Amino acid sequence: MSDFGNKSVVRREIIKALEKEGRNPDAYNIAGIMRDAFYYRGPGCGYGAPSEEEWRAAVEKHQRPFGIGDMVRVVLEIDGLTEHHFGKIAQFLKANGQMYRVTPAKPSNAYVDLLETRSRVVPLSAATRAEDDFEVITEHSEVHRGAGPWMDWYFKCRDCISTYKAARVKVVHKASGQCVRLCDECHSLERRVQLGHSVMWDGRRNKQTIFELRENPGLLTGPVDDCEADGYRQWADALPYLVPAEAAKQYAQWAEEQRVSGDA
Ligand SMILES: [Zn+2]
Repeated sequence: MSDFGNKSVVRREIIKALEKEGRNPDAYNIAGIMRDAFYYRGPGCGYGAPSEEEWRAAVEKHQRPFGIGDMVRVVLEIDGLTEHHFGKIAQFLKANGQMYRVTPAKPSNAYVDLLETRSRVVPLSAATRAEDDFEVITEHSEVHRGAGPWMDWYFKCRDCISTYKAARVKVVHKASGQCVRLCDECHSLERRVQLGHSVMWDGRRNKQTIFELRENPGLLTGPVDDCEADGYRQWADALPYLVPAEAAKQYAQWAEEQRVSGDA
């Protein structure tokens, strides 16, 4: 960011920058961000833009508390899998499960309407804003990087592909690296959350293999040309975000050894 002439320009720039990061500007105290991160340099000089660190710190500090209807993410253990679930805050509750009589400044728990599993009460300390799970890329060259001649060098919107509408954003689920390219009309927080849940469903569909690899991380490092090991490796290459940590580590080492011995 460069320097800005006056407060309303700064305000607009802050909103733009928040949106670019996939955040909802309504969830932030814009005046607070301005006060903390944009220095007034005196008449004629306007406001100085913050460094990356100052920006981060101000954005974090001036996020308003959770509100009813906010989309959040919680981590749940379900049938042996660690799953990320999304849902909206329906109500705030006290630690003892009772309802607040007045709107609390710092609520401790919330009843969350989870979209893909049983809704439940969760401590707010364990909930994070759904927005923070995704990166939203709007830079044209980044959105369409890798689109070959077979698609006229640009990616279509995933959801209205029959109309061949060009994608305008690339949404990346940070935890898995999975992404979806969408047009402006199809892009929403709900659609981002759907991408997050698709990763969760991939985990459920592949539960058997995940458990096998957890039990026996060496399954991926069997001999080359071993049918069974090759099968596991193909699975891991297709769904790298589902490979349990230890198995992934051993597989990476194995792949490196193969590469070195292949070079020799
Ligand atoms: Zn679309």
